[in-house]
Order: sequence, then structure tokens, then C-alpha cells
Amino acid sequence: MVDKGAGAKEGRKPVQHDSELVMVALGGLGEVGMNAYLYGIGPPEEREWLLVDLGITFPEGDWEPGVDVILPDLAFIEAEKASLKGIVITHAHEDHIGAVLELWDRLRAPIYVTPFSAGMLKPKVGEIAPGLKLDIRVVPVEGRFNAGPFDVELVNMAHSIPEVSALAIRTKHGTVFHTADWKLDATPVIGAPTNEKRIAEIGAEGILAFVGDSTNAMRDGRSPSETEVAHSLRDIIKQAKDRVVVTTFASNVGRVKAVADAARASGRRLVIAGRALHRAIQVGMETGYLPKDFQYLDQQQYSYLRRDEIVCLSTGSQGEPRAAMARLAQNEHPDLSLDKGDLVIFSSRTIPGNEKPVGRIQNSLAMMGCDVLTDNEALVHVTGHPRRDELRQMYAWTKPRIAIPMHGEARHLREHAKLARECGVKEVLILTNGEIVRLAPGPARIIDDAPVGRLYRDGRLLVNAEDTPVRERRKLAAVGIVVVALTMTRRGDLLGEAQVALDGVPTQNDEGEPMIDLALDAVDGCLVSIPPARRKDGAMVSEAVRRSVRSAISQAWGKKPIVKVLLNVVDTR
Ligand SMILES: [Zn+2]
Ligand SMILES: [Zn+2]
Repeated sequence: MVDKGAGAKEGRKPVQHDSELVMVALGGLGEVGMNAYLYGIGPPEEREWLLVDLGITFPEGDWEPGVDVILPDLAFIEAEKASLKGIVITHAHEDHIGAVLELWDRLRAPIYVTPFSAGMLKPKVGEIAPGLKLDIRVVPVEGRFNAGPFDVELVNMAHSIPEVSALAIRTKHGTVFHTADWKLDATPVIGAPTNEKRIAEIGAEGILAFVGDSTNAMRDGRSPSETEVAHSLRDIIKQAKDRVVVTTFASNVGRVKAVADAARASGRRLVIAGRALHRAIQVGMETGYLPKDFQYLDQQQYSYLRRDEIVCLSTGSQGEPRAAMARLAQNEHPDLSLDKGDLVIFSSRTIPGNEKPVGRIQNSLAMMGCDVLTDNEALVHVTGHPRRDELRQMYAWTKPRIAIPMHGEARHLREHAKLARECGVKEVLILTNGEIVRLAPGPARIIDDAPVGRLYRDGRLLVNAEDTPVRERRKLAAVGIVVVALTMTRRGDLLGEAQVALDGVPTQNDEGEPMIDLALDAVDGCLVSIPPARRKDGAMVSEAVRRSVRSAISQAWGKKPIVKVLLNVVDTR
């Protein structure tokens, strides 16, 4: 140990080069998604780091048009990547694993991952990062390993995907318990329940800091079990008369099994539609969560089956436009179709932001005469995150000195923090991404800031959110664009006529006059108003034309479009 005892005794400030245990989130605080949490040990200039999760989040369509996916900006840890001892992935949900393939090359630290998550990651290498050789260290479920100064024990948690690991991260400064996503479920459909016994044992050893899931901190009670959902699905499918189509997250292998069991129990055949489901089933079979001889039919066989012998499991529960569900609802699927009286079950929660596309699909299905069942009407889905009674139980087992709510928007973090205090936790901190908190020695305190931000995947490019044209796209979406092209001589005479093109602007005003004519009149009026001697100043002419056209359209429309002027100056003798 360094001389902190002596320093403390004499009442001096801790010496700068003392070792500390710190935590900082590069994503995941104040948002659901983009999880990336760093733990650091050592003096400020020589810390060794452990990264827990490396996930993505999805754009808000109207606010971030054209953005495919959002990833955390890792600039802070990229600058110290030599001291990054490992990346631990708690589970294979996209908000925890989704950025690994695109960002790993910037860090190149070993990835510690359990077999199912490794199975879900590897097939995507070819799609997203061909040729990338990841340093994957597969750790058994509930395994334990050292990464630099971090002694990491995996503790099995129930959730909505196989193999979720809470982490007991033991350090010379104390133990951090990082919950990952979890719930208490004594009867999950596949995999073991949350290892309550082990959590209580680690709690009895003493936990310095608890960093935990806040997603459902505003919901009272306990979450129902996956098995209750399985029984409910079975009863609903048994009573169905015609086709049944169920859509869910492909990675929820327990739910896939529940639907397969329900199909068998009602004498129906299981049809699988969607690449993500085929991949998850394959990995589920390889890792033993589904039987080796798991029986299902491919979507090509759908049309050969009688309506009352089909249960079709399909991707697209979030309204993804290219997934099977959306195409089915538009009657545009090459192999699948629905008719009046068929039943469609959304065995999923709609992620905030996806309500509209999901609603559109459900309305299309209703117009086709299908019955649509969601978790509003029946127990066809259950959350994978702890509600308030489960959080209370967790605090009773872990009894941490410090609690840091994570994995939630601001309101979730705040409610979780209040509950942690009610449970007797002395030091509860609500942090934002980038705030570096010292967990030990001494009381937990924010000591510094790390740079944080977002990267947009925009087509083939990965760019900092600050440097993208997304703001212009938003404006274009709202007000459209007018392009004016002019050719002038060096002396300032207009050659030929101006050309005007409109995109996203109404074609005529309320008296039926074409907008293009209004724009052309504005161009002429503007040029006439500029004295011939001044027309040689191309920049001035362009700006004057731009303003006149914008003003003319604005008067007619009541909105100011983007106006671009292309001025071509030619020599004439
Ligand atoms: Zn999750
Ligand atoms: Zn999550």
C-alpha cells in the first residue's frame, strides 16, 4: 500500500500519485443503449483499465435522419489503449455488444465473453468487419479470470437472452458488483435462474460499489417469469383457429423455445422467417440452449401448410421495414401471406421511438382482418429488467457502500437512486457519461471529466456526430431546397435564362402560380436592381439572388427553404 494512511492521519490531502479505483461511463448513463463502462485502477497518470460492454444505440428517426446506428466515442480510452487490460461483454444484446466489431480495432484489447455471446458475435464479422481478427477469450458461464489488476467473476443472471453475467470485479481497493441487465426469474425457459446464492455470498464478503440496471426502477412489484409467458403463449396458440404468426427478438432464445413448444402442444408446425432468427437458433443449438434436433421448417414451406397447422416465428417486432413482419403486413413477402382471421402476436416490447412503425404494421394487419395481440392485451411478453421489489431484494443481498444507477434515462436513474437510499445505501451517485468518479479510497466523489460523444454510422462512414450533415438533413426534411443556376458574362450580363429546381417545396402558391415562376421573377427583379457596374462581383450577385428567391418563396409559402445559387461566369469576346 502507498502511504495514504500516514497522509490521512496528518490530515493532509491524499497525495496525487496514490492509487485509486475509478469508474467512468462512455455511454449508458442517461440513455438506454450504447453501454460502455470503464473501471480504472492506479494513480491518475498510470491507470489500468477494464471496459465493460461496448454497445450501440439507435437513432431517433426524425432527429437523426439517415443515421443507421450510433456508437460511443472512445477517444478517451483510445488515448490510453495500451493500459486497457480487457473488454468484458456481459451479454449479447446490441446495446452491450453491438459496437464491438466496428470499434475493436481502435482498442485491440482481449474480449472476454461467454460461449453464447461469442457465437452471436462471430458470424457477424464477415458482414460488418471482414478480415478482422478479434482477440476473443471465451470464458465459461460463471467463470473467473484476471485482466491486469482486475479479478473478474461472472455471476449468472436471468434476463431475456442466454448467458447474462453480472460481474464481481475484485480489486485491491474493494469489490465492484456490476449487475449487467437482469431480473429475478426462478423459472426461466432456458438457462439457470439468477444465482441468488452466489450474489448473497459476494455481498457477505463486502461490496464497495454496486453499479446496477435502472430500466424498470419506476415500476412497482416483480416482473413475471418467462415460464408464465410460455404458458400463456401455449394457451393462446392452442385456441387459435387459423394461422398464427409470432414476432419477437431473435436473440430471445427462451422465447423461441416457448413458441416452438406451443406449436408442438397444439399440433402445429414451426416455420422460421428471418435471417436473425436462423442465426440465433443455430447458436442456441451449438451452445445447448436448444436441442440438437430442434425442428422447424423454412419459410418456403409456409404456403404448402394448411392454415391451422402453422405457427410462424418472424423477425421484425420493432417495425424494421425490411424484416419479415413489415413485408408480411404489406402483403409483399415472397413466401408468407396472411388472411382474414389469422392471429399475429407481438411477443415483444416496442422500443421507445419505434412506436410509429410498429403501429403502422399493426394497423395494416388489422385492415387485412387479422387479430393482433400485444402485451397490452395478454401475457405474451415480459420484461428482462428488475422492477422495484427485485431491486430491493438485490440491495438486501449486496449491501453495498456505494450505489451508482446505470442503464437508464435520467428519470430511471433518479428513481433507482432514491430506492437505493431507501434501502440504506449511504453513498448514492447519479452520474452522467464522462464524469469520472473515484470509488476508493475515501468517499465516492466526482474527480474529473473524460471526453465523451457519439459516432454515427452513416452508410459506409463512421463519423463524429458533431461533424455530420445530419443537421442540414433535418432542415432539408422540413423546408426543402431551391437551386438557382445562372450564367453571366464577366461584365455582368445574364446569358440565357436562369434555371430553377425545387425539391421538397410546394409546386404552387395558393393562387395556383407555379413556385418556379415566382422564383424566376425574383431572380429577374434582383438582377435588374443591381447597377451594371456592380454585377461583376459574383459573390455579391449570388447572395442577392439567394435572398430574393428565399424571400419570394417565403412570402408565397410561409416557410423559408434552403436556397443555393450556382453562378457560372463565362468569358465572351
Ligand atoms: Zn440486455
Ligand atoms: Zn441492455
